[in-house]
Amino acid sequence: MSWRADVLTIFPSMFPGPLGESLAGKAMEAGSWSLKVTDIRDFGLGRHRSVDDTPFGGGAGMVMRPDVLDAAIGSVADATLGSVADKRPLIVLTPRGAPLTQKRVRELAEGPGVILLCGRFEGIDQRVIDARQAEEVSIGDYILSGGEIAALVLLDAAIRLLPGVMGAAISAVEESFSAPLLEYPHYTRPAVWAERAVPETLTSGNHAAIAAWRLAAARQTTKTRRPDLYNQYIASGAPAP
Ligand code: SAM
Repeated sequence: MSWRADVLTIFPSMFPGPLGESLAGKAMEAGSWSLKVTDIRDFGLGRHRSVDDTPFGGGAGMVMRPDVLDAAIGSVADATLGSVADKRPLIVLTPRGAPLTQKRVRELAEGPGVILLCGRFEGIDQRVIDARQAEEVSIGDYILSGGEIAALVLLDAAIRLLPGVMGAAISAVEESFSAPLLEYPHYTRPAVWAERAVPETLTSGNHAAIAAWRLAAARQTTKTRRPDLYNQYIASGAPAP
């Protein structure tokens, strides 16, 4: 059974968006993953299919209603409840969530898929998040105008790890965050460009020397740019350079 993504949003036309192109688009055509988008407004209230209301306690903006969202979630999740094959996590995209990591992305890619709920306005009534035991995930310490782009980010990161999606499986193992190191820098032809030569080792043909150069470069960049990752790397038992 292929990896299945359900997305709940008030802007269904934002999907598949960029995921219809390139690797993800081809993988969708090939049936490696599938996408179903649900318009939350289909569950909205009244003539205007309203999905939000003013916040209790006052303040600016609007909050997405729990009853409307629960009906939208139910249309996807309850329909699949009881099916042993469907153990997909319900994920709410929110800046209040746990930061998305490559480790979590890998776990999601290894599972049956995801159900993603995209917030808008000031956010989502907390009760529906709690009642549905949703996982709250953030894609970074900044505020987007809605959860849709965050959902696209999560899906893109997971889909490229699905079996058969990436041409060279090795690149998924080597790249940044698979080990807690940033990746080494890349170079291609021409060997000299704008009076800048490629590091000599890389053109030496000596594979052991190239591997050592890349590891040293990865360590140095990580130490300078991301001391938090570097400390994890050292703590994981890697030999200090
Ligand atoms: N009032 C919220 C706050 O200060 O935390 C921001 C709400 S934001 C304008 C609207 C929606 O965008 C959120 O409900 C969430 O779904 C999404 N969003 C914004 N930033 C995000 C992030 N960094 N990661 C994931 N989703 C995000």
